[in-house]
Parts: sequence; C-alpha cells; structure tokens
Amino acid sequence: MLSKKFFIQTFGCQMNVYDSERIAQLLTARNYQKVDDPARADVILVNTCSVREKPEQKVYSALGRFQALKRKKPGLLIGVGGCVAQQEGKKLLERVPYVDFVLGTKELRRITEILDLRESSGYRLCATALGGRIDPYRDLPLFPISGRTTAFVSIMQGCDNFCSFCIVPFVRGREVSRASKDILEEIQSLTATGVQEVTLLGQNVNSYGNRAPGEINFAELLEAVQRVPGVERIRFTTSHPKDLSPRLIQSFGRLPKLCEHIHLPLQSGSNRILERMRRGYLREEYWEKVNSLRRACPEISITTDMIVGFPGEEERDFEESLEIIERIQFDDLFSFRYSDRPHTRASSLTGKIPEDLKQRRLTDLQSLQQKITAGKNRAWEGRVVEVLVEGPSKARTEEKTGRTRTNRIVNFPGDSIPPGSFVRVRVEKALAHSLRGELLSE
Ligand code: SAM
Ligand code: SF4
Repeated sequence: MLSKKFFIQTFGCQMNVYDSERIAQLLTARNYQKVDDPARADVILVNTCSVREKPEQKVYSALGRFQALKRKKPGLLIGVGGCVAQQEGKKLLERVPYVDFVLGTKELRRITEILDLRESSGYRLCATALGGRIDPYRDLPLFPISGRTTAFVSIMQGCDNFCSFCIVPFVRGREVSRASKDILEEIQSLTATGVQEVTLLGQNVNSYGNRAPGEINFAELLEAVQRVPGVERIRFTTSHPKDLSPRLIQSFGRLPKLCEHIHLPLQSGSNRILERMRRGYLREEYWEKVNSLRRACPEISITTDMIVGFPGEEERDFEESLEIIERIQFDDLFSFRYSDRPHTRASSLTGKIPEDLKQRRLTDLQSLQQKITAGKNRAWEGRVVEVLVEGPSKARTEEKTGRTRTNRIVNFPGDSIPPGSFVRVRVEKALAHSLRGELLSE
C-alpha cells in the first residue's frame, strides 16, 4: 500500500520546532512519509504560536493558502496544533470550516489516533485537554531522524510564573519537568544518530525539578548531560533571571561542554514596569546576575528579550530600558511591541500605549542594539573560533555555515567539510547578523 504523505508548517519558538519533530516521528513510525511540498501532502498540520498577535494572524493566512489545496484535493486533511489550537479549541473548527482537527499542546501523542478517527467517523475533531502537571512526552516512542548535528530536547513543559503579559501558562499549562532519566535516554538516542550539540528547552529551565520531589535540579541535569558520551556541546533556553542560581552561574566556568551563551530575558529596564509585568526581579538584581555571569565566564555571550510599550510605560521607563541596554552591552536582543493576549492580567490594565508610539520606541531600541551588536561582532575580527559545521550556508550554497560556542553564525568557504565537523575558523569580517571567516584546519 502506498504510504500517506504529511507536511508540517511550524510557527513560533523552538518548543514548537521540537513538538513538530516528535509528531513527525510518530507519523513516520506509522508509515506516513514526510514531504517538503504541501501540494503533495495527504495531511497538513500547522503548528501554531499565539505568544503575540502577529504570529497568530500568520496562522490564519497559512490556513487560507492550504484551503486552496483542499479544493483541488478534497481528501486532504488539515489540522491545527500548538498554542493557537489550545487557545481556540472548538472555536477554531467553527471559525475555519475546512479544518479537520485541532490538536492541543499536550495532546501530540494522539496524532495518529485522531487521524484514524477522523477518517473512520467522518467527524471533525478537537483534542485540547491540558490536564494537571502531566508530562506530554512521557513514554512517547523515540525515533530520532539521522543526519543531524544539532537537536532540541524539551526538558519541561508549561510555566507557573504568570508574567502579566504572557499567554504561555494558559496554553501550555502548569509547569511540569520531565524525568531526568527520560531526558538522558532521549539524548543518548540522539547522539547515537550523530547529534553532537543539544539545546535543552523549557519556558524557565532554571526551575527544572523544583516541583518534582526526588528529581535533580537544573545545574545537576547539566552535569548529567555533560557525562553522556557523544555530546560535545550543551546549550539551553530560556532562563528566567529570578531563578538563575549561583550554582548554575558557576556551571559556565566549570562544565567544558556548556557553551558560553545565555539567553536571559530582561523585558524592561524600569522597576516600575517590571513590577507591573510581575517578573519577580529588579533591574539592580538583573545587573548583579549579569556581573556574576561575566565573573564566572568572561567570554560569555548574553542575549535578551525586551518588550516596548507595555501598558503604563512612560518615556522615562523606556529611557531606563535604553540605559540598561547601553550599560549591559548585550551581544544581541529580540525586541517586541507589547500586544494584548487573551486571559492575561496585562490585557485589562489601563494606560495602553498607541501603536505609533510603540513603533517609535521599538525603532529607537533596535537602532541602539544594532550599534552594540555590530561592535560586539567586530571584536571577533582576527580571532580564531571553534565552529561546529551544520551544513551549506543559506546565502551561498558553496559555503559552509556553523556556530561558535557563543552562538554566532559563521560562514566560510569549505567545500569538502561535512556537517558535524569541528573546525577552526579565523574571523575575517563581521556582518550585521553573522561572521565570515577562513578555514584554518579540518
Ligand atoms: N519564558 C521566557 C521568559 O520568561 O523570558 C519567554 C517566553 S515568550 C514565549 C518569548 C518572548 O515573547 C518573551 O520573552 C517576551 O519578550 C515576548 N512576549 C511574550 N508575551 C508578549 C506580549 N504579550 N507582547 C509582546 N511580547 C511578548
Ligand atoms: Fe511567559 Fe513569564 Fe512563563 Fe516566560 S516566565 S513563559 S514570560 S509566564
């Protein structure tokens, strides 16, 4: 029998990339074949993000494009997974009549059952139970795809922090840590297929294990991953500043496989706004953690997330954000205009900021950071860096691309270098978002 074909379009964060991968594994194990062209698929799954309004809108435009395919091929099944699926549930089936099934963030294990049911019953289906502190990956069979050098591994799901702007606790549920035994087994299965760099994922990895009696903590988990044969590099994201422990900070100087990079979202430089955001730290505490990180590991690259135009943000609050960015000199940052999200406390706060003002602040913040990033990148010119080669460069396929331990992209001519090689590259030129270099050794 010919196998059915599936196509997955993923929006949003690394967590969604990871979930799409696990869904792809489950479908492949049931003899479905993955395709890169939606026009060839029998099943299309859109894995969605609802953290801000813009990515949520993108989902509906993608669905519109797939509807055109369904007109040509009526048997095509279209499903929506991820955070929008969780947020909207049955309403999505009402709003988008050609969607066949909705698969919530904690229901991914049911993908093949849902497809079978859709075909046998003829009903459109919605599976969006969130449950309590349930690990959605528990006992899911592992079928890692070979040929990759880097991989994501989810170590926890959900979040208990309820920052006032954030929808995550409502669409990913309460925080639950996976068993360290399962995480380590998964990493072993990945290294067996050639993976050398793992990125541990969670909304707040620093609180890993806190709510699981008898489980190790995050610094101990890093130590355990360091001992897995075949792992050469370890990364993690995201760290919440309030839970960044001294032991974790010391891990950067101590664990040779732990890469010198931390993504530590600050969100605002104003204590008044941080409090309204319910972030649980002051700017002074954040500054102190940055200093401790730099003392433990002077090479460390520090990146962050910032929100502009949070309700009630006055010009002087925004200036405090610019001031702390200037002072800390982040290696890079992601910045966002605040957007109201359903269920969140911030959505009912007064003092909403007009869009044009948010945009002006965003532009000012980004141009400041561009200068800082350019200076940071220029400081690498002339230095020799270790690069883990990931494959051909996107812009010039005759070149190779990879990352430094500090998470900078490096492109260099190197025709014969296979993915998975560690090479030494001399940085020749710093560009806005990457470095170009010359290969020194194979
Ligand atoms: N767990 C991470 C943390 O605590 O920093 C962040 C996860 S969130 C998926 C990624 C980023 O999206 C946040 O750091 C924040 O900057 C941004 N974000 C979240 N909700 C937002 C909103 N309502 N408006 C604008 N940006 C938002
Ligand atoms: Fe959202 Fe805050 Fe949890 Fe991050 S820590 S996922 S911003 S609630």
